[in-house]
Amino acid sequence: MKVYYDKDADFNIIKDKIVTIVGYGSQGHAHAANLKDSGVKSVNIALKENSLSISKAKSAGFNVISIDEASKNSDILMLATPDEIQGKLYKHHIHNTLKSGSALAFAHGLNIHYGLIEPREDIDVFMIAPKGPGHTVRSEYQKGGGVPSLISIYQNKSGNAFEIALAYGSGLGAGRSGMIETTFREECETDLFGEQVVLCGGLTELITAGYETLVDAGYAPEMAYFECLHEVKLIVDLLYEGGIANMRYSISNTAEYGDYVSGKRIINQETRKEMKKILSDIQSGKFTRDWMMECEVNQPHFKAMRNKSKKHSIEVIGKKLRDMMPWIGKNKLVDTKKN
Ligand code: NAP
Ligand code: MG
Repeated sequence: MKVYYDKDADFNIIKDKIVTIVGYGSQGHAHAANLKDSGVKSVNIALKENSLSISKAKSAGFNVISIDEASKNSDILMLATPDEIQGKLYKHHIHNTLKSGSALAFAHGLNIHYGLIEPREDIDVFMIAPKGPGHTVRSEYQKGGGVPSLISIYQNKSGNAFEIALAYGSGLGAGRSGMIETTFREECETDLFGEQVVLCGGLTELITAGYETLVDAGYAPEMAYFECLHEVKLIVDLLYEGGIANMRYSISNTAEYGDYVSGKRIINQETRKEMKKILSDIQSGKFTRDWMMECEVNQPHFKAMRNKSKKHSIEVIGKKLRDMMPWIGKNKLVDTKKN
C-alpha cells in the first residue's frame, strides 16, 4: 500500500487552475475553504438556483456560479453534493458541457463504482476521499493538520491525473496526514461497510440500546446519557490517540476485565454473521440499489427514520444536559447557519 505526503505532491500544478466545488455542504465548504487557504487562486462554488447554500457560500467570500457554467469553464469540477443526486446532476448538467481535458473529481467512489455515472472519455476522473466528516476536514486543516484521505484515478486522459489529484489532496490538507492509494471499488465498499457497521449504524445503535436498557431498568435518563453517550468521546479520544491498548491502559482494571468478558457477548457470532451479510449486500450492489430506489420515491422511509430518531428521549435529555455545558458548544464543528 502506498501513502503519499505533501513532499510527494506539486501543489503548483493546481494553483492557477479554475477549481469548482459543486455543493457547499459538509465536504463542499471544507474543500473550498482549504483549497483557497492553501493558495488556489480561483475557487468557485456551483449551486442550483434557489439553493439555501448560496448565501452561506457568498458570506464566506466565494464566487457562486450555476452548475452549467461550472461545467463549461472549470479545470477541476469536484462533485460534493449528496451521492444520490450526482447521477442526474451529471447526466443533465455536466455530461454534454464539461470542458474537454478537464478533471471530474469525487469525494466518494459510489457513483462511479456502481455505474451511476459513466464519465466521458476525454476527461480525467479522480477521487480524493477524506476519511472523516467534512467539518473535521476543515477544523483539522485550521489546526495545521489534515484528515487522511484515499486517492484513486479512474480515468487518466491527460496523463497527469495522479499528479493533479495529489496536488488537490495536498491543498485539502490530506498530504499532511497521508493520501493512501486505492481503487474506487475498495474505497466505496470499505467506506459503506465502516459507516454502516461500526462508525454510524453500529455505534448509534449501541449507544441507544445501552441507554434504553438502563432507562427501562429504572435508572435516571441523565445518568444513562452520560454513561452511554457523553463518555463515548472520552474513550474514543484515547483510542484515536494510541489505539485499543492505550485506552485500556487508562481505564481501571475493573473496566478492562469487563471489556474482555462482556464485549464478546455484545458482538457475538450472530453479530459477526450479520456483518458479513451487510458486506455482501454492499459488494453485490443491493444496498446501493435499495438506497437509489428509496431516493426515486422521495425518501419516505429515510425521512421517517430521521424524524423518529430526532424525537428519541436520548436527544431530548442530551440537549438539556449539553445546555448545562456551554463549553461544548464553543467553536462548534457544525454550525448549520454557516456550513
Ligand atoms: P451534503 O453536505 O449533503 O451536501 C449538501 C450540499 O449539496 C448543499 O450545498 C446542497 O445545497 C447541495 N445540493 C443538494 N442538491 C443539489 C443539487 N441538485 N445541485 C447542486 N447542489 C445540490 O454532502 P456531503 O455529505 O458533503 O457529501 C458530498 C460528497 O462527499 C458525497 O460524495 C459523500 O459521499 C462524500 N463524503 C462525505 C463525507 C461527509 O463527511 N459528509 C465524508 C467523506 C465523503 P442546498 O443547500 O440547496 O441543499
Ligand atoms: Mg465514510
